[in-house]
Amino acid sequence: MTHSDAPTASAPAGLRDRRGRLLRDLRISVMDRCNFRCPYCMPRETFHESYRFLGSHERLSFDEIVRVTRLLVRLGVRKLRLTGGEPLLRPNLTDLIGDLSAIDGVEDVALTTNGTLLAKYAVELRAAGLQRVTVSLDSLDPQVFMRMSGGFGGVEEALEGIEQARRAGLGPIKVNAVVQRGVNDHTVFELVERFRGTGVIVRFIEYMDVGNRNHWQRDAVVPSRELLQRIASRWPLEPLQPSYHGEVADRYALGDGSGEVGFISSVTQPFCGDCTRARLSSDGVLYTCLFATRGTPLRDRLRGGACDDDLLDALRALWRDRSDNYSEQRRGSLAGDGERKVEMFYIGG
Ligand code: SAM
Ligand code: SF4
Ligand code: SF4
Repeated sequence: MTHSDAPTASAPAGLRDRRGRLLRDLRISVMDRCNFRCPYCMPRETFHESYRFLGSHERLSFDEIVRVTRLLVRLGVRKLRLTGGEPLLRPNLTDLIGDLSAIDGVEDVALTTNGTLLAKYAVELRAAGLQRVTVSLDSLDPQVFMRMSGGFGGVEEALEGIEQARRAGLGPIKVNAVVQRGVNDHTVFELVERFRGTGVIVRFIEYMDVGNRNHWQRDAVVPSRELLQRIASRWPLEPLQPSYHGEVADRYALGDGSGEVGFISSVTQPFCGDCTRARLSSDGVLYTCLFATRGTPLRDRLRGGACDDDLLDALRALWRDRSDNYSEQRRGSLAGDGERKVEMFYIGG
């Protein structure tokens, strides 16, 4: 693999979309399959045993992923996040991480996982160049956890994954918890309590209407503001500055200095204005919004001999033409409910 085309040489510094947003982040879904069936993401009634996931030849190869990433780095991408499905189900993932970390211009390589395989791979992942992990853990209550994972995995496995990741140096570790009213919102205190003083940052995510299959209801969303008030009644919270431009979580320090919590409020406080993220599906479709109804397929072009310059032109035009702001539209109830959106497991979070 060569990484000869230095990203800065031809970088049109500051490629901006139609709303003036730079391209900075790339989320790469390396695997559409998952070993969980979280009802808010991959409900079992749809993703059952005979659901047809991608075959291995349909997924982008590592070389293809690296090639697309190199091109997007030339257009401004600096941060990469590997996701899925469950990214740690992708065989030999560390090889890909090694190649991605070696791309000139890449400043950060992170991974989002449900944590089941993290204890096993943490050391290898770090050695390959992974910098940080985010572990999804919706509740410490075993029954609530099982309900939210669709009956798979376990709290202890996730906690062990977090511990091994911490030891391997994959920090600062973030824990993501999707909050659903009446399902796990009564267990959020335990999450804050459990990770206080450990350096692990817990972030609460508003339940989103991603895809078309999770039967999303607005009533099930616990607005971050409400959650914040509840948490602040137990631990005073002090707002913190974003750690970088475009950070999706609003950060708060626990008043006693024991840590930090975050709130990701895509539903009630959309952050489209700062959205610098592109998403690559495991079969090579590039999306410029998590709620997109269509993306740009790259796989056939990659396999059909397209040269880098042609691909670059297409990618540049794609970002320039982008005007996505789904969450802002949703707030104004303009979002197209009838349109078929891409599924979360397919492009990652
Ligand atoms: N399987 C990995 C995991 O769960 O961490 C990575 C992929 S998962 C799609 C990425 C993130 O999306 C997870 O933190 C998950 O909780 C979040 N997510 C999935 N469906 C969601 C929804 N409907 N609303 C909010 N977050 C969601
Ligand atoms: Fe799998 Fe992650 Fe979706 Fe849960 S949220 S079903 S762990 S991809
Ligand atoms: Fe970005 Fe789309 Fe989310 Fe808005 S709705 S923040 S444009 S991914």
